[in-house]
Amino acid sequence: MDMQTSLLNRLFDSGLLIDTGVEGLYGRSGAFEDVIARFEALVSKFGQDQNAEEIRFPPGMNRAHFEGSGYMKSFPQLAGTVHSFCGCELDHMNLLQCMAEGDDWTKGQDATNIVLTPAACYPLYPVVAKRGPLPQGGGLFDLQSYCFRHEPSNDPARMQLFRMREYVRIGAPEDVMAFRQAWMEKGRKLIETLQLPVEIDVANDPFFGRAGKMLSNNQRDQNLKFELLVPVTSTAKPTACLSFNYHQDHFGTTWGLKTADGAVAHTACVGFGLERVALALFAHHGLNTNEWPEPVREALWGN
Ligand code: AMP
Ligand code: ZN
Repeated sequence: MDMQTSLLNRLFDSGLLIDTGVEGLYGRSGAFEDVIARFEALVSKFGQDQNAEEIRFPPGMNRAHFEGSGYMKSFPQLAGTVHSFCGCELDHMNLLQCMAEGDDWTKGQDATNIVLTPAACYPLYPVVAKRGPLPQGGGLFDLQSYCFRHEPSNDPARMQLFRMREYVRIGAPEDVMAFRQAWMEKGRKLIETLQLPVEIDVANDPFFGRAGKMLSNNQRDQNLKFELLVPVTSTAKPTACLSFNYHQDHFGTTWGLKTADGAVAHTACVGFGLERVALALFAHHGLNTNEWPEPVREALWGN
């Protein structure tokens, strides 16, 4: 049995994660959720000096905003759309018949105006753009959302539905870059507080297809994405638990985000993979939180 299946089975056996029969779609126990809540509180503590505007979107976003973001150009393989039955009574009878015969009943479903959120910051940009130019100094936002990515896997750290906490900075290029640099340092400190081994490295997103290879190379060459890695199921291939992304003017141009002096705003975000951090903690410190090292318990439950 490989290390991924073995950790997943241990998580199922201990009840921390609950099997639903679909890879990457799990229930979470109270103990698991408590770790996530405590970790989020620690993130808030590290981020409290920023005075970020807190916004929570549901795990689905406006389809028109999703289309405008260009996500389907880059990651069509990961997207999830919400479809619904919109037919008449006759269509309903046909639907039930189709299901009874074991045929594909989903073909008759129509797209709704909602798409599953692919990353916590995607719903933010068009909403901020609609407010008009940013105030002097730009904007800073605190987000958290369940996100969907169609990447079924037996690696417990690769889920299809997982939560991302994010801080997003929108403003002048130098402010946005300084924000990302500060979070790379703070992020490392934060994870070291939890006594987890940390490594930060340049990274790329999984852009689709042959043209995607070029985009990945560009992203790396320009140092646009860094990841904070912690071994979860393998020391040879540690898992990305935090990401530090600089989008340059991509979202600013796409949505018409403007700084107070009328320039196109740049954006950057730091994303915390909440389940991944929890899994890293369980993998390193054991499945029973009462037995975790005292400094780790203190950092999470001490205040
Ligand atoms: P990304 O937008 O890909 O940089 O993702 C932000 C953070 O979300 C990553 O650093 C991971 O910690 C987390 N993440 C990404 N994909 C997954 C996944 N499939 N399952 C769990 N966490 C994920
Ligand atoms: Zn983001």
